[in-house]
Amino acid sequence: MVVLAVHGGAGGDGPWRGMTDADPQRVACMESLLDELGQRLTNGELDALEAVTLAVEAMENEPLFNAGLGSVLDENGQAGMDASIMRGEDQAAGSVIGLTTTRHPVRAAQHLLLKGWPIMLAGPPGDEFANEHGVEQMERTWFETKLRRAQWKKWKSQRLRPGATDEEDALLDHDGDEEGWGTVGAVALDVHGHVAAATSTGGMTGKPVGRVGDTPIIGAGTWADQTIAVSCTGVGEAFIRTAAAHSVAVHHRVVGLEEAADKVLNEVEPLGGRGGLIAVNTEGKVVMPFQTMLMYRGVYIDGTCRVGIGPDFIQS
Ligand code: ASP
Repeated sequence: MVVLAVHGGAGGDGPWRGMTDADPQRVACMESLLDELGQRLTNGELDALEAVTLAVEAMENEPLFNAGLGSVLDENGQAGMDASIMRGEDQAAGSVIGLTTTRHPVRAAQHLLLKGWPIMLAGPPGDEFANEHGVEQMERTWFETKLRRAQWKKWKSQRLRPGATDEEDALLDHDGDEEGWGTVGAVALDVHGHVAAATSTGGMTGKPVGRVGDTPIIGAGTWADQTIAVSCTGVGEAFIRTAAAHSVAVHHRVVGLEEAADKVLNEVEPLGGRGGLIAVNTEGKVVMPFQTMLMYRGVYIDGTCRVGIGPDFIQS
């Protein structure tokens, strides 16, 4: 059995209001990557690590998700990207923080994982490392889209102080703005019974320069071990304070996957971190819970692909 699950960010308040004009493009991105990579996972061409890397790269390429091209803009109106990846079988990990020129931050993180040391690189040395390992470099302005500039202007006009400094006040990249969803992540189970997880983000609109969310923190936004892989999305500070992704792994050994995932989201929520997560265990069980209005998500299990945004999966 193989599994590939992805998310494209969680957010919003109140009841699901149906698809926006931009949603078919996001859905198409998820469907096509699940279809292609799911088949390649099934025939053994891809292992879990490469499958999650390619899945996240495909979403980093989609400007309507908040990762790679189309990342949200920080307080200075510039993109700064975080990503991490973890391989379950040996708990190898790689993570990059605040990249500004690397087209695919998740690929840079994978190179760190494969190299083995160090695990994390922040700022320009992360971009330099990526460049040295053949990961495509772009002008900083290449990552900016009209949509993100418009969101940033809206943030700027509504906020007198630069950036949000506490969770209460934090401006999730997508909250209150139907056009701005998006951190991305993937988890996979391959034909060898191994799992991996990866997450990539531009963070939050108006974030202070240098702010680090949960996405590049191993154990907070991303986790994989011999039994489970997890990728989270939501207000990062609360996911850091609860070591959310790792916590799912710990609880799941005791109470099972579904209960563990709900338990952790319930711990995250009072800290101001409503969001969601995706997880798969080595038995092939998948969960995709979220406590927001929506979470872009999709899953491929043994030839069948399902994608959802609101509470239900889309019927195809
Ligand atoms: N977790 C991300 C961060 O805090 C944002 C998100 O998932 O939407 O940077």
